[in-house]
Order: sequence, then C-alpha cells, then structure tokens
Amino acid sequence: MLVHPVVCGYGIAFLIETPQALFLVDSGSPGQQQRVISKMNELGRKDLKLIWITHAHYDHYGSAAALRNLTGARIGIHLIDADYMVLARSPLGTTRRYGFIYPHLQRILNQTNPLSTTLPDVLLSDGETLEKYGLNASILHTPGHTPGHSCLVLEDGTAFAGDLLGAFPRPGLQSLLATDWGQLAGSLEYLKSTAPKWIYTGHSRQPIPGSALQKIKNGAMPMNK
Ligand SMILES: [Zn+2]
Repeated sequence: MLVHPVVCGYGIAFLIETPQALFLVDSGSPGQQQRVISKMNELGRKDLKLIWITHAHYDHYGSAAALRNLTGARIGIHLIDADYMVLARSPLGTTRRYGFIYPHLQRILNQTNPLSTTLPDVLLSDGETLEKYGLNASILHTPGHTPGHSCLVLEDGTAFAGDLLGAFPRPGLQSLLATDWGQLAGSLEYLKSTAPKWIYTGHSRQPIPGSALQKIKNGAMPMNK
C-alpha cells in the first residue's frame, strides 16, 4: 500500500494506492479535482472507489463532488458532519490565536470558488469499517474541530488524522479552530489508543511517527506558534 499526498489548494488529498483499488482521504478545496486526476493518470489507474472525508470543511471536501462526477467514486463521511456537506457549509466554530483569519479567508474563497452541495453516499459512525468498500480501515469519531470529525486508521497502522492534529512547527493538537474545544483532548486520547505507526495530518505531506503522537500532550503543546 502506498500513500500519495496531493496538494489541492489549501488542503491535501491523500491518494491510497492498493493493488485492488484507489482510495482518497479528503479532496482539497473546490476546483482542485484535476490535481487528483493527474496523479491517477501518473499512476496509470482509473479505479478510485471511495473518497473518505475527515470533516466538512472547505479545504477537505471542496473537490469531492467534482471527483465523484469524473471517477464514479463514492463519497463517505461520519454521519454527524453529513448535513454540512449537503448544505455546502463549512462550520468553523470559534477561533483561538491566529485562527481568527480563517473565517475571513473562507468567506473570500467561497465567493470566488464556492462549495457545492455534496450528497454523501456512505454515512458511517464510530467503530465501523470501510471493508465492504475494499479497504481495511476503521472510522474513529474524533469530534472537537467539527462535530463529526473522524480519523481513519488502516490495518497496517497508517492513520489519517484530518485536522485533529497539526504538524508545524512540531506535532501537536490543532489549536486554531473548534466547534467544541472540550472534545479535542478525548479525541486525541482515542487516536493514541489505537497506536498507529504513521499519522498523516491534514495539512502536511509528511506523516508523523507513532512515537511523536504518543508524546503529544492534551492542549499543552500548541501547534503553529
Ligand atoms: Zn478543518
């Protein structure tokens, strides 16, 4: 299994290559679908089966509907965040530190390149797997950044943490935007408890090792200082 991070505007789409099929975790901002298609062409593959969205934010599901139109892939998300996609919304909650720029940035971006209504095909909840779609991966409900934020943990120990974590300047709990700040610590502990080997965070092409994840303190190590 190989993971190919594809920078898509303000977000990153992670293309998972297995012998049987391709899968995508997140899809970047609106209008970025050709970047993923280019990577698929480079790999000589057309079999994108499922796009798993970690949470309903502009830079994570923006190109999902366009990619479904181009590839026939299904779109999945934790059921609690599904309505935001259907309503083409991106709930930012409250901000801390320089997170205050994001509501302004999102308003501007959404005027020039708006989110489209995105009906998910697959709604899952905590503990369910993607096995029947061809990927041995478990869904972890990890709320806080958004109500239905989820992490994906693959059987081989690779995890996708969405925006639960940040990687800069060092791995830490995301500390800029949350719909419920009080839920983040529990979500971090939940991800830690699965002991993943490598963790891809939503805005970095490089995964962090499991040992670095285990060292992250609840709220004590803010990112992006
Ligand atoms: Zn986010």
